[in-house]
Amino acid sequence: MQPKELLALAEEFGNPLYVYDAATIEQQYNRLTSAFSKVENLRINYAMKALSNITILKLLKKCGSGLDTVSFQEVQLGLHAGFSPEKIIFTPNGVSFEEIEEVAKLGVQINIDNLSVLEHFGAKYPKVPVCIRINPHVMAGGNSNISVGHIDSKFGISVHQMPHLLRIVENTGMHINGIHMHTGSDILDIEVFLYAAEILFDAAKNFKELDFLDFGSGFKVPYKKGDIETNIEELGKKLSKRFLAFEKEYGRTLTLAFEPGKFLVSEAGFFLAKVNVVKQTTSTVFAGIDSGFNHLIRPMFYGSQHAIENISNPKGKERFYTVVGYICETDTFANNRQISEIKEGDILSFRNSGAYCFSMASNYNSRFKPAEVLWKDGKGHLISKRETFEDLIKNQVEIEI
Ligand SMILES: *Cc1c(COP(=O)(O)O)cnc(C)c1O
Repeated sequence: MQPKELLALAEEFGNPLYVYDAATIEQQYNRLTSAFSKVENLRINYAMKALSNITILKLLKKCGSGLDTVSFQEVQLGLHAGFSPEKIIFTPNGVSFEEIEEVAKLGVQINIDNLSVLEHFGAKYPKVPVCIRINPHVMAGGNSNISVGHIDSKFGISVHQMPHLLRIVENTGMHINGIHMHTGSDILDIEVFLYAAEILFDAAKNFKELDFLDFGSGFKVPYKKGDIETNIEELGKKLSKRFLAFEKEYGRTLTLAFEPGKFLVSEAGFFLAKVNVVKQTTSTVFAGIDSGFNHLIRPMFYGSQHAIENISNPKGKERFYTVVGYICETDTFANNRQISEIKEGDILSFRNSGAYCFSMASNYNSRFKPAEVLWKDGKGHLISKRETFEDLIKNQVEIEI
């Protein structure tokens, strides 16, 4: 989106503001399906924890997407957005057995990542088909918060526990209809992904009635020019070929599934915030914005480097700024970043603000969560309202003291 368009939205809807470009989401969806066009049965399940606004869910549904969910509430939101239960997969970790039961009762595909849960579920519901999440123990990417495939990870059933797993399946007579891996949200190297895929293919041979193989996600998107990103087209070519060969070997039609979050929505998002103060200290120029990690926690939480543009002065002379928030603790968005000259009152735009930004926003410091706008067909559509004081107190119970 152009700085002028974003600036007009900040004026129309106020700030801080989240803006999502519908066309970018559609493009990313189509890019992924095109990369795997050789695969007859391809299934994309959008990992909705990245951005769960109902209109965004509807947009992806219109593209043909299913949903990957991690909580009962996400399943409810998905159903509310119009997804049928068969288009939803539930991939929880560490949730209660009751929650898994509740979701299964809705007819949603269950993905189990723990042997004790598998045994319990298989004994109680031997007729309900279940997908199993395998941990292939492949280290993808460098961020330890989001890398989930390594040996100490809490996710998935270790591929080394296959004999135990098979015993449970045999004893309970349950039906395993899918096999799944998700190696983490930071895949740099396609070869590493393909290596993990081989482990999944190997594991799949242990089950005779699979309907799908789910390769999870973790596709990396660029944050700035020159950043490494997952080459989806190359991955599509290589993995499709290998998948089709495996399908033949397996002797049964299979669906190839993915569950991307970041890949579909990260680049579509812009976070807009006004500069309250420009503060020159002895060594640094701070630009303090009218927001903080309550609205955008990724830089503080993951060390994410979101590109920042001054959309009020996009062509200005570039200077160095440290961009900080208003939270009463260290709250740095960028250190010594080159940004076109900032004056108080200017609007800054943070790129890659579609995934894990609004969905991780909080009311810390008793601030309202920002509004969200979808940019579609050259117009901004409000898709969630800015919170009000009512929202801050609506669940509080005031007692006589
Ligand atoms: C979070 C998550 C995803 C999505 O990861 P991205 O890096 O956003 O694509 C996919 N699958 C599972 C099981 C997840 O927990």
